[in-house]
Order: sequence, then C-alpha cells, then structure tokens
Amino acid sequence: MPIRERLTPKEKAERERQRKIHMGRVASLGCIVCAAPANVHHIRDGQGTGQKASDYETIGLCHNHHQGRDGIHTLGTKRWQKIYGYERELLENVRRELIGRYGSVKTGD
Ligand SMILES: [Zn+2]
Ligand SMILES: [Zn+2]
Repeated sequence: MPIRERLTPKEKAERERQRKIHMGRVASLGCIVCAAPANVHHIRDGQGTGQKASDYETIGLCHNHHQGRDGIHTLGTKRWQKIYGYERELLENVRRELIGRYGSVKTGD
C-alpha cells in the first residue's frame, strides 16, 4: 500500500476532476475493438481484492466487448485477450491516441 497522502478537500476534488476528464477522453475514443460508443474498463479490475484499479489504466469498450456476449467480463480476461489483444497493449494504444489528440496524456494522479 502506498503511504497515505494528506490531501486537502480542494486537492482531492481536483484529482477527481482530472480523473473524470481522463476517463471521458478514453470513452470518447470509442471501443478499442470495434469503435462503437464505449464506456471505460479498468484493466486491472479482474485482479485480486484490495487493489483499486487506477482510473488512468482504462480502455474504452462497447457494451458487447465489455459485458456483452463477446465481453471481457463474460469470456474472462485470459480468453478475451487471446482474441482481442492484451489489455496492456490496448492501454498503450489508447495512450498513443490520446497523445495524438491532446498532445499529452496523464498516466497517474
Ligand atoms: Zn466493441
Ligand atoms: Zn470492465
């Protein structure tokens, strides 16, 4: 566990705001598989308990490729990755696209 930082309410709110902006941008790129309208998927959310997935490690997935018939949460991460690619690589693609669009990308708070 990281050492707990002491943030003022104002700093906390600013972090929250930055995270929302980032996730909005990720979603706006569309599904990383098929480009349909997307929501964000936290790439570590299949992992062990106690690890909070970072909002900066998110990729856009449409309903079908997220929770639907061909979804990562339906097939399971291992099987899904064999078909559609590794989450880590997809995350890199997302970051590259965001850099292309916005000039830079945040990768953490
Ligand atoms: Zn899709
Ligand atoms: Zn998800």
